[in-house]
Amino acid sequence: MEIQVNGSCLCGKVSSTVTGPFQRFYQCYCDRCQKKTGSAFASLIFTNPESIKWHTGKELTKRFDLPNAVRFSNCFCTECGSQVPYLSRDGAFLVIPAGYLDGNPQITPQANIFWDERPCWFDDGKKADTFSTYPE
Ligand SMILES: [Zn+2]
Ligand SMILES: [Zn+2]
Repeated sequence: MEIQVNGSCLCGKVSSTVTGPFQRFYQCYCDRCQKKTGSAFASLIFTNPESIKWHTGKELTKRFDLPNAVRFSNCFCTECGSQVPYLSRDGAFLVIPAGYLDGNPQITPQANIFWDERPCWFDDGKKADTFSTYPE
């Protein structure tokens, strides 16, 4: 069944709607994704290139294709730095950073990839205390 999910960047100037169903959702722990997200992993949904309709701010997005890499790219809002959807370098699929989406993509992560590259603090981080907001 077709679903539509809205997405936007942190500042709200970039917005679009993506159309599912989505088939692939991976969490990537490679060292490049750590750099691009500033965190332990990137949560990426892969779908068909034609599955996106841009509403606002596409001209504010900037694409970076890592030299010497075959596939790695980053695409972000130049106003706020949030990751936004982009086409894979071979044009075969649309890559959607899951955190860009404002609604439920109705798919959950299927694989943790490049697991051996996860940061040294990741496993202990899962055991840390949890708080609903800031700790006291
Ligand atoms: Zn933005
Ligand atoms: Zn990665």
